[in-house]
Amino acid sequence: MNAVPQPGLAPQFAVHNPATGETIGTLPIFSAEQINAAVERAAVAQRRWAGTSVRERLKILKRFGQLLCEQKSTVAAVISREAGKPEIEALSTEILVVLDTVEYLRNHVAEFLLPQPVPHGNPIMKLKRGVLLREPYGVVGIISPWNYPFSIPSVQGLAALAAGNAVVVKPSEFTPYSSLELQRLLREAGLDADLFQVITGDGSAGAALLASNIHKLVFTGSVATGKRVAQAAAARLLPVVLELGGKDPMIVLEDTDLNVASSAAVWGAFMNAGQTCLSVERCYVHESIYGKFLEKCVEKTNKLRVGSARPDSDGEFDIGPMIHERQLKIVQAHVEDAIARGARLLAGGKALPQLGPNFFAPTILADVDHSMRIMREETFGPVLPVRSFKMEDEAVALANDSEFGLAASIFTRDRKRGEAMARRIEAGTVMVNDVISCFGISEAPHGGVKASGIGRTHGSFGLEEMVWPKYVDSDRMPGMKKPWWYGYNQAFTEQMNGFVELLFANKLTNRMRGAMKSTKSYLRRRVL
Ligand code: NAD
Repeated sequence: MNAVPQPGLAPQFAVHNPATGETIGTLPIFSAEQINAAVERAAVAQRRWAGTSVRERLKILKRFGQLLCEQKSTVAAVISREAGKPEIEALSTEILVVLDTVEYLRNHVAEFLLPQPVPHGNPIMKLKRGVLLREPYGVVGIISPWNYPFSIPSVQGLAALAAGNAVVVKPSEFTPYSSLELQRLLREAGLDADLFQVITGDGSAGAALLASNIHKLVFTGSVATGKRVAQAAAARLLPVVLELGGKDPMIVLEDTDLNVASSAAVWGAFMNAGQTCLSVERCYVHESIYGKFLEKCVEKTNKLRVGSARPDSDGEFDIGPMIHERQLKIVQAHVEDAIARGARLLAGGKALPQLGPNFFAPTILADVDHSMRIMREETFGPVLPVRSFKMEDEAVALANDSEFGLAASIFTRDRKRGEAMARRIEAGTVMVNDVISCFGISEAPHGGVKASGIGRTHGSFGLEEMVWPKYVDSDRMPGMKKPWWYGYNQAFTEQMNGFVELLFANKLTNRMRGAMKSTKSYLRRRVL
């Protein structure tokens, strides 16, 4: 991000097209005071919103969905211009996902928010009626990354709104215009401007949002920033969801359809220029098909067009640029480290400066191993590192040998075998015979284990993150003093002993004896 000092004006930053380096525009870096004020306005608006019927809230979401569908090309162009991805990917992996989320929320939120009876097992507690309510937190802060600049704040923000919260979003400083599109469409759909506010800026604005009076934070980004966010949140006991990085393994078993698996590997590794948290970042192939699999991957990779939608191109391309030079350098360093340690380069392997500042050729590396950075650290670039395995157990051990646990995939013609293997993989999602598309399933919880994060977005688990559970316990016998209240004496001790035996003793005779003991002492006892 380039800060642009302007004498007498609030600090601004410039946003660049990653394919050309051209400036798209400049936006303000919100100060802590401005962010606090935005959160205060959101809190006031949220109290009204929480009192609005769910039907009214969903009507606005429906209008938003209609507007997004009508204006999909405009929004896709905004996403593509600042993130560098092909417009087709902006449509298929961002706008489509958001429209599906709108449908999901319209179909499920009313039922999700209904008071839920909580039946009691303990006989003495059956005198009470238990009900679970789901209360909105208040103001939900969202801090988002640049790689899915529209779908991530949309999916999280819409769920928060539907559940009755207000939302303040701090988008990535590299891709803020996509969130501003989201804000524009929500306002056009009739949402009170204070209920969904975008505050722009760099990490300092994110830190200020974290320090403001928000009631919950949903953070999506790198592990390093996620740890800093978690520490700051812990200091003030702010509940957080952390959607962090991944190093997703793909396992290709010997019975797989090679044509299908190689297409999946190439798309899974290179889609969005490999800058997807769910990208295929490691590939393990059974030794019996290793050579053929690599051949097919290379053949398919050679057909891919790297480029951008710049005016002097025909606008048709498969792989765009990296978001910025820093990301390009990380990819380069991982590839160089792998080659220096013995990996075989089968395709790509270098930057493409003739296309623009941040392009990297789709790269295939064979014979990699776990001593290499490319198999341990998140690369986040268009690289497919592949190694072979002999036994299924070895493949599982390799897949689990990672600090990350976001998602994984298994390719096999035997679906049952794939599903059984899925149970042994340490990851938030395991796909059998597909990659990445789990993110587009609105019902499917999204999130990871280990360093990939805490909590979930999407689906009912994602909705649960937007509410706090309130249990209401209502006694059906208001005129009765409860037997566990004061009045402690020998009779009470006997009563409790009897009661415990009645409920939990092994033998029926002991339970009956417990029942008698408990009743007798209850009658002798006087509650204070
Ligand atoms: P990042 O951690 O650099 O930045 C993420 C956001 O945090 C940005 O908006 C940034 O301005 C803000 N930020 C920076 N410092 C901050 C601070 N001290 N306090 C509060 N906010 C701060 O991540 P990135 O480079 O934008 O995104 C790429 C990363 O995101 C990758 O690791 C990728 O795997 C991960 N990611 C994860 C998911 C998921 O769902 N698990 C989805 C997309 C991306």
